[in-house]
Parts: sequence; structure tokens; C-alpha cells
Amino acid sequence: MTSSIDIPTVPLAGDVSIPQFGLGVFQVPPEETTENVLHAIEAGYRHVDTAKAYENEAQVGQAIRASGLERSEFFVTTKCFNDDHGYDSATRALKTSLGQLEMEHVDLYLIHWPVPSQDRYVETWQAFVEAQQAGLARAVGVSNFQPAHLRRIVDETGVTPAVNQIELHPYLQQQGLRREHADLGIVTEAWSPLAQGLVLDDPAIVAIAAAHGKTAAQVVLRWHIELGTVVFPKSATVGRIQENIDIFDFELSAEELAEIEALDRGERTGPDPDEFTRP
Ligand code: NAD
Repeated sequence: MTSSIDIPTVPLAGDVSIPQFGLGVFQVPPEETTENVLHAIEAGYRHVDTAKAYENEAQVGQAIRASGLERSEFFVTTKCFNDDHGYDSATRALKTSLGQLEMEHVDLYLIHWPVPSQDRYVETWQAFVEAQQAGLARAVGVSNFQPAHLRRIVDETGVTPAVNQIELHPYLQQQGLRREHADLGIVTEAWSPLAQGLVLDDPAIVAIAAAHGKTAAQVVLRWHIELGTVVFPKSATVGRIQENIDIFDFELSAEELAEIEALDRGERTGPDPDEFTRP
């Protein structure tokens, strides 16, 4: 196993810090997940983003144990899904996820979606705060929260989430929400950082890639790193897993960053967080 790649970390609350780059395993079938994560570990990844809803937590845990490395070398995130909102359900859901992962704690536990129509995310957040105090999650945060949802949990519990994991890529740059995060001291995590591949044919990105002798995916991932967001692209192929982590040997110029900034068109590839309710 190798780890010659020096991945930057971002501080979260307390003494916890998160590797700024990792592997996402959304839509990786369970029977392929162990091998997928092991390939990533071999390429130098030490951060994995899973969720109860991805149905592959057990295989993520297996890969980490099979790597032969210490658990403490890894940063593992999982998430509480929409059917587990509420104090008791969320408390149970974390214990179930830990059972699947066969771990004593996760590094980060997230509320996957706010599901405002259920109006239970404050209660869920209270359970998260207590789970962190009990040592079951080193840090706790949210995903797909809009500014009003963030303000409400902070106002009602006095505890600010360490991160908000949101859809973020060159076609959906989320300037307003990112400003809100900066005001509240919340770290931004980017999901679908490549817009599931949609941005990779963009002529501006292709031209920047050619100028650096890099691929379009590497340029987009590098842009995320330079924005300061935490990023974990998904890939099922070994070549792309290696390609995606190979972004720490070049920098984008201010002009190139401005060209990418100009690509924003407020385009979501995933659901609207105010409306997504899938149980
Ligand atoms: P992504 O933007 O990472 O795109 C993944 C797709 O891009 C792959 O299926 C592959 O087809 C393509 N790809 C990857 N590397 C490539 C490369 N080097 N060259 C060409 N194509 C490449 O999208 P994603 O998987 O939706 O998001 C990443 C992670 O974010 C997920 O795995 C998951 O962990 C997380 N996520 C979270 C939420 C949430 O609601 N919190 C939602 C979606 C995803």
C-alpha cells in the first residue's frame, strides 16, 4: 500500500481535521465496493464518503479492514437518511450504520437531506449532537441544507454543523450558500463535483486542461481544491481513481479560476433540497 500523495486537510471542530480529497461511493454496487475502495486506498486515498442509502457501508468497512492499515489512518463519513429523522430513529440509525461498518465510531455523521416537509431535522440534529458527545461520531454535520435550515438548527440547539455537503460544480457554484457557510464557520463539501461528468466536455475546461497537460476532470477537481471545498469524486475504474487524485502537482492561475467562475449557470444535476423527500 502506498501513500506518497500529500493530501491537504481542512480543520473541523475540536481536534478533528478532514482530508480535502477522498472517494465517494454513491451508486457503487455493494459487490463492487470493497474492490473499488481497495483500489483507491492503494492509490493513496484515505477518506471515504458513504451513506446508509448507498447500501454499501458494510463493504466500505471490509475494505478498510482488508487494507491492513490502522483505522485511525482513515476518515469515514456516513449519513442518516430521510426515513430515520427524529431523535430516537436517528440515534438508532447511527448505531445500525456503525454495525454495518463494524466500527466504534465514524469520523463524520451527516443528516443526508433536511426533508422540510417532515419538519424533524432539529430533533434529528439534537440526536447528532449527543452522539458526538458520546464519541460515536468525531464530527457531525449536514447535507443539502439551505440557509434557513442551517440558521434554524444553530438557533434552536446552539450547535453549528461542522460541514454542509452540497451539490457543487462549475455549473452550480452556490455562491450564496458558500457565503453563508463562511459566515457560520461551516466547511463546504462538494457532491457531484464533476456534475456526474456533465462539465467535462466544456470547451473552457478542456482548454485549461490542455494548457496544463491535465485532463478536464483533474482541472475541475483542482478548482474545488483551490476553492477550499472538500471533494470526493466517484469512479469505478482504476485508471480514473488514480487520475482523480493526481491533482496536487499543479495550480490554476487567477485568470483560469475566473474563466471557470464564469461558467456558473445555476444548473442542478440532482434534486432540489427543499423538495426532496424520498423515504
Ligand atoms: P461525480 O461528479 O463524482 O461524478 C461521478 C461520475 O463521473 C462517474 O460515475 C464517472 O462516470 C465520471 N468520472 C469520474 N471520474 C472521471 C474521470 N477522471 N474522467 C471522466 N469521467 C469521470 O458524481 P457523484 O458520484 O454523484 O458524486 C460524488 C460523491 O458525492 C458520491 O459518490 C457521494 O459520495 C456524494 N454524493 C452525495 C450526495 C448527497 O446528497 N449528499 C448526492 C450525490 C453524491
